[in-house]
Amino acid sequence: MCIFCMIANHEIPSSVVYEDDTVIAILDLSQVTKGHTLVMPKEHYETLIDVPSQLAMHMMEVVQIVAKRLTTNLHAKGFNVLNNGGELAGQTVMHAHIHIIPRYEENDGFDVQFHTTEKPKDLAAVLSEING
Ligand code: AMP
Ligand code: ZN
Repeated sequence: MCIFCMIANHEIPSSVVYEDDTVIAILDLSQVTKGHTLVMPKEHYETLIDVPSQLAMHMMEVVQIVAKRLTTNLHAKGFNVLNNGGELAGQTVMHAHIHIIPRYEENDGFDVQFHTTEKPKDLAAVLSEING
């Protein structure tokens, strides 16, 4: 069974920040910054787009609850919300989850940068490819 399913079933220990019938939030073992939390459905879905939409919406409610708690109680000055969807995007545990990374200062261990490589020039063509 997948490691996050085992955590959701309380078969292996974790630090539970929030839990209800369908969603659980736990401290990430890596603690990229203090309070780094993972929000996941209790049921196994591989990536975010596999999660039924009602449950995905509820995950986002829990992200908001936990982000509020982290910023208030840990005095974070901000937070990043991140989902790695698929191996190419950096997903290592194939049970959908959303990272909440509280931010304290610029060099606090987390950094996101958008690197510009070859940009598509024709946005109308991109749009029609997306929307069909
Ligand atoms: P991702 O790369 O988006 O799939 O993130 C997986 C995350 O799960 C990593 O940040 C790991 O540190 C974290 N992780 C793996 N195993 C555990 C565990 N047993 N308890 C808490 N976090 C874990
Ligand atoms: Zn799982």
